[in-house]
Amino acid sequence: MRSPKARAARSGAAGTRIALIVGMAALQRVRFHGRGGEGVKQASHIVARALFLSGLNVQDAPLYGAERRGAPVMAFVRFGEQPVRERGYIVDPDVIVICNDSLLHLADAAVLAGLDPGGLVLINSARSADDLRRAHGIAAAVLCRDVSAIALRHLGQHLLSAPMAAFALKASGRVSWGQVARAVEIELAEAGLAPAAIERNLAAARETFDSVGAVGFPAPRAQAAAGPLPVFVLPRLPARAAAPSIAAAATSALRTTEGWRVYRPVIHRQRCTRCFLCFALCPEGAIQLDAEHWPVVDYAHCKGCLVCASECPTGTIESVREDAAAEEVAR
Ligand code: SF4
Ligand code: SF4
Repeated sequence: MRSPKARAARSGAAGTRIALIVGMAALQRVRFHGRGGEGVKQASHIVARALFLSGLNVQDAPLYGAERRGAPVMAFVRFGEQPVRERGYIVDPDVIVICNDSLLHLADAAVLAGLDPGGLVLINSARSADDLRRAHGIAAAVLCRDVSAIALRHLGQHLLSAPMAAFALKASGRVSWGQVARAVEIELAEAGLAPAAIERNLAAARETFDSVGAVGFPAPRAQAAAGPLPVFVLPRLPARAAAPSIAAAATSALRTTEGWRVYRPVIHRQRCTRCFLCFALCPEGAIQLDAEHWPVVDYAHCKGCLVCASECPTGTIESVREDAAAEEVAR
């Protein structure tokens, strides 16, 4: 008879993400936070896949707010040795994975909500763990790694799925590099990436995996005794009453998005031909023209997508990492 682990591995190779293995240990909950377009959902897929390949039951699911590049997004991974029957938002995570440290400054993103002092926070940041604990009053353990720098070196873009997954998986202390690599290959191939791109992601994941300590995830928090699933009855309200912000007019100017940026575009006028392409193609309308028709970035509303930099025909828009730009402004 095939072992539960062997059955799980076979099922994983076939693409099923939920395995059933009988066991007694408690469920662990990991909540991911990041920004749209960085690979947060994919990172949670890879984490769940690798844990699944190690023989555990897993479940993962993303949650989007605005379907907009740069907007805060979340993903949830639950895993354990017993069947995973809990669904929905993770209110009481054992581990929080923060893919973009700018979210720590955004109260609405509530990235630390529900964190227990005995929990663990994994943060993609160039700052130190002590620095972030002090700055944000985090009582739980914090582990930091500048995953953005690793992603940029290997991928040339701020795509974090494979290295952030490797960060979380190494910290968990539960999987081998071989399982991480296989999970990256399966998930990125399913997402349609070419073999060469998968190789670059594997290199980024490997560097991250090797540079992080296997600190181990904290013990799962106590769970409520299993009972019947709650039934929710949602009243039907007209859109104007249920979501007044949808119907409200001209609110986008009030919603600043400078905190979304990992990079800021810096326009150097020496090579600018005032062709207006950046002005026309910015999806946020965050480039304006001054009285002499020079393009000027409105940094309060620029979200850092860098469409302008990639479309500028003279290549005169530089991408500057936000941390460095902020330090330059402060000097
Ligand atoms: S696209 Fe480039 S060259 Fe054209 S206006 Fe913008 S910065 Fe200048
Ligand atoms: S100014 Fe450039 S980086 Fe900023 S939102 Fe517009 S296109 Fe994106």
